[in-house]
Amino acid sequence: MKRRLTILGSTGSIGLQALDVVRSHPERFEIIGLSANKETKTLAEQAREFEPAYVALESSDANALENLQAEKITGPGAAAKLAEAPADIVLNGIVGFAGLAATVASLKSNNPVALANKESLVTGGDWIMQLADKADKCIIPVDSEHSAIFQCLEGRAENEVREVLLTASGGPFFERTKAELTTVGPEDALKHPTWRMGPKITVDSATMMNKGLEVIEAHHLFGIPYDAIRIVVHRQSVVHGGVTFEDGSAILHAALPDMRVPISYGLLYPERGDVKVEPVGFKDASWTFQEPRNDVFRCLPLAVEAGRAGGAYPVALNAANEVAVGAFLDRRIKFIQIAEVVEEVLEAVPQQSGAMESMEAIEAVDRWSRQEANNAVQRAR
Ligand code: MG
Repeated sequence: MKRRLTILGSTGSIGLQALDVVRSHPERFEIIGLSANKETKTLAEQAREFEPAYVALESSDANALENLQAEKITGPGAAAKLAEAPADIVLNGIVGFAGLAATVASLKSNNPVALANKESLVTGGDWIMQLADKADKCIIPVDSEHSAIFQCLEGRAENEVREVLLTASGGPFFERTKAELTTVGPEDALKHPTWRMGPKITVDSATMMNKGLEVIEAHHLFGIPYDAIRIVVHRQSVVHGGVTFEDGSAILHAALPDMRVPISYGLLYPERGDVKVEPVGFKDASWTFQEPRNDVFRCLPLAVEAGRAGGAYPVALNAANEVAVGAFLDRRIKFIQIAEVVEEVLEAVPQQSGAMESMEAIEAVDRWSRQEANNAVQRAR
């Protein structure tokens, strides 16, 4: 039986690689829907190739979709609408906070989610996990580290687990001094040494914010306390994660840094498939593991602190970071000011923000935080 698959964010980095996975195994998938933000032409080409029942476009400019057979869903919220269509798996590859509504819509419609949008769990973690529980639907992580941990945890009793291990590439600047980091620009930050990813996550990887968001994601996904999540810098990006057990032994997961591996695992779970990725090489391989440099890359400790504080803090962290990364990419602030903007916003979060258990509550904090972050960007210039 073919797996009915919806891909949200089909024109982004995750979406394009997911469609590559589908091309390698056309006999295993039926595409129900594809969604894009505003890349109308690419979406139309994909729809002609994969013939989905639905196409969804967040922008209302849908002229290029006119001659398609597929039913069209257009305008703001289109991806979340599409996520409601019955499917065996909804891959959420939307970038940033915009992906939360679609994760909620999938789970409320009883659709299992292959989750590449870490912001869903960062901003709505407790609520999202409750929704998944209630629908008795699983969330299969597509983030490479979480896919690794998920695989190492399979079949293990919770009380055997001492620690989960989250590896970080360290990004393009890991060896740089603090002084050197004052002059780096977007072109430098976008040169990732090991991974091929979209611009937002590549900058997050350079600041180590990506790892911070992933710590919060792991906390919710696996129900693991923050103290039991260990981050190590592993420059080769071959070991993606692992679990240390009560007897002191650890199981690690390794694969070449190619997102098609965790994407295909998420789409085919509990099966696997050949996606034309080279196997892990053991000839002359040297794997190194180092402590993160929290004194230089401040975003990681800030994120962990926000995660521990919970409630509105991770929402504010994420929103401030999205604004700050956008400002850095537009050359309105320096690389090192990304952490400063985030820290300023976190310090201003009102104490009584309530529980983040509805779209309205989360969106209100998100809006407030973006405003604060924009003000902080103005002051930083
Ligand atoms: Mg990752």
